[in-house]
Amino acid sequence: MVPLTLLLLSTVVSAKTLDIYFIDVEGGAATLIVTPLGESILIDSGFPGERDAGRIAQVARDLAKLKQIDHYITTHWHRDHVGGIPQLAQLIPVKRYYDHGLPTAPASDILPELIDPYKKTTDGKNQTLKAGDDIKLRSGGPFPRLRFEIVAGSGVVKGEPAGSPQIRICNPDQKPMAEDKTDNANSLGFVLTFGGFRFFDGGDLTWNVENKLVCPRAVVGAVDVYQVDHHGADSSNNPTLVNNLQPRVAIIGNGPRKGGEVNTFATLKAAPGIEAIYQLHRNLATTANDNTMSGYIANEEESCKGNYIRLSVDEVARSYTVSIDAKQISRKYRVVRVDHN
Ligand SMILES: [Zn+2]
Repeated sequence: MVPLTLLLLSTVVSAKTLDIYFIDVEGGAATLIVTPLGESILIDSGFPGERDAGRIAQVARDLAKLKQIDHYITTHWHRDHVGGIPQLAQLIPVKRYYDHGLPTAPASDILPELIDPYKKTTDGKNQTLKAGDDIKLRSGGPFPRLRFEIVAGSGVVKGEPAGSPQIRICNPDQKPMAEDKTDNANSLGFVLTFGGFRFFDGGDLTWNVENKLVCPRAVVGAVDVYQVDHHGADSSNNPTLVNNLQPRVAIIGNGPRKGGEVNTFATLKAAPGIEAIYQLHRNLATTANDNTMSGYIANEEESCKGNYIRLSVDEVARSYTVSIDAKQISRKYRVVRVDHN
């Protein structure tokens, strides 16, 4: 038993944190950010249907104690990212919608049966984001400034003119892949800065656009935490980018048989300064050597309970914890860099 006075004291001095929930949507994406002032940003909404919308709503309402989603971003138009939003908007109010722009021409990988419900849900009130834009977040009180900056979108990176080619060569060692004509390459990617803490989420950005985040200059720079691009697929996670990000902690939003691929896992393991690799799922298609250790995996089985991974940043203490609540596992990491704002 903790004495009551101690309990009271700890309630008073406990710092408010910036929380990031990596919700398991079985190889899709749904990342919920809640600021110390209670403002919320959801990035992607998983697959269509009740499962993913239900999981997101549960985390938002029951864990994060949210009454609404203030900002919802669709990184790109694939069903594992935009699919859940019509159902989710029935479960919790969503105030603002952002995307990289509605498709203007038919494309084989963009399905009208996903775009039409999105248009209905947003009722024309969606805003287009492009590289270099910011979403303004409330800061104040004792908390360091928050910055949410878009660094990639529609195939271009911050500082580049619209329509720039996807492939850019900065040195002879570089090996581009064939041009990616899917909407993955158009993904919105962002950096969230909270004092000295930096988090990068690149949606499903692929190899060549990732390269442009480093060539000819580093657009993102070093981060603390990397939401591994494209569920950890090997068509993404160009080592040029990963090594430049120098993440301390990497979190792979993979499914039991999707993402978390062998080359990407090797790239992450070899990244300079890496301390921990987390996975939402054990990849059942590869060996134990190509998966992170069991204590870093939120869901072991194919028929899982949809366990999330939670990240809490206490900038005042200059540390963050990564927790898998379902396994009662929590680890603390230091914020090593100084305030970039
Ligand atoms: Zn995806």
